[in-house]
Amino acid sequence: QDTIAIVGAGQAGAQVAQSLRQNGHEGPIRMIGDEPHPPYQRPPLSKKFLSGEIGSEALWLRPPAFYETQRIAVQPGTRVEAIDRDARSLVCAGGERIGYDRLVLATGTRARAIALAGADLAGVVTLRRITDVEHIRAALGVHNRLAVIGAGYIGLEVAAVARAMGKAVTVIEAQDRVMKRVVSPVVSAYYEALHRANGVDLRLSTGVEAIEGGERVEGVRLAGGAVVPADLVLVAVGAEPNDELATACGLETDNGILVDGGGQTSDETIFAAGDCTRFFSARYGRSVRLESVQNAIDQAKVVAQTMTGQEVDYDPLPWFWSDQYHVKLQIAGLSEGYDDTVTVGAPAEDKFYVAYLQRGRLIAVDSINAPRSHMVARKVIGEAWRADLLPPA
Ligand code: FAD
Repeated sequence: QDTIAIVGAGQAGAQVAQSLRQNGHEGPIRMIGDEPHPPYQRPPLSKKFLSGEIGSEALWLRPPAFYETQRIAVQPGTRVEAIDRDARSLVCAGGERIGYDRLVLATGTRARAIALAGADLAGVVTLRRITDVEHIRAALGVHNRLAVIGAGYIGLEVAAVARAMGKAVTVIEAQDRVMKRVVSPVVSAYYEALHRANGVDLRLSTGVEAIEGGERVEGVRLAGGAVVPADLVLVAVGAEPNDELATACGLETDNGILVDGGGQTSDETIFAAGDCTRFFSARYGRSVRLESVQNAIDQAKVVAQTMTGQEVDYDPLPWFWSDQYHVKLQIAGLSEGYDDTVTVGAPAEDKFYVAYLQRGRLIAVDSINAPRSHMVARKVIGEAWRADLLPPA
């Protein structure tokens, strides 16, 4: 059978490899990743791994022996720099060439950089990888003042862990509420109160002008001139897809590698899965690029199915979670485009959910410490709701 190469040894790459074997692919599988570790899960990076509650082995998706017994050749520490589609080979940093018959791109995303003076000072960090967290943990071991730029999931999760360590934490957000892109005002307000009650200095509607310092970062200069003193600055302003390899070899990309419902790119021998992809969702009536474990796993399974001759049309009900302090947020569905919300339960009791409606139909539910409502929502929305089933207005 043919040789399948996988670029990116993360959540999606590892799942494609495993599912290919499960589905009966007997030929060689080679997985090439640029990190020094075996494939691992990222969610704990900003939660229990940052706090030190768990070590790095607890992050591994599978013990290294698994890949051996499954005859999956994992090649860590190797960056793929180009795809030669004519020769069907990968060009690695250092010049090594790796041939393939069929290829899977599972290159994920990277933390978005911020274009600010001082962004390259020592002590200004982003969080995507184990090595980033090791760096942040070491800095928090000796420094006490953390400034976080960006009040999305990762910024807020890190703020919560740093407060539990007793650090002084300032979170600076340009928007007028936290997690604005993904949750409704009632959920934002709940999280703003939660962080403030835990001692976070939360600055909303606040722009950043520069990051200041000498040899090392000393503070964040806000629009208007005030300076937030800090000896560690986390820039957490979102992620960008690693789709340059695909673009450079002529595959169709558009803020993500474009794939069809089977995970195939515009080249029938090349597939893609996970954070780096964009696909059309009939359910939502638009193309989406999802950054979640759910999508990485489910789309990877779809790619493995397609590559082993099954017909699939991927159109998931996305779900996601975030842990901050004692509070678990679980999101079912994408709420973008909602025109009404219903809040059930009591934010003051730290247990409630918000249902998002569009033209009277349930499209998403955010559950706060309400896991049962989350599970029910996933089932109900998953089965019942698709944009293409809606009647015309
Ligand atoms: P990744 O897991 O990022 O794997 C891609 C791999 O490809 C990386 O190792 C990358 O270095 C490698 N790579 C890229 N380019 C190349 C190249 N040219 N050559 C070789 N290797 C390459 N999701 C949730 O659902 N819930 C959460 O609570 C949650 N928390 C998160 C917290 C943090 C701090 C982060 C960073 C992410 C979190 N996520 C969470 C998102 C989730 O981790 C991602 O959606 C998931 O990892 C995507 O899997 P992936 O395989 O597409 O990408």
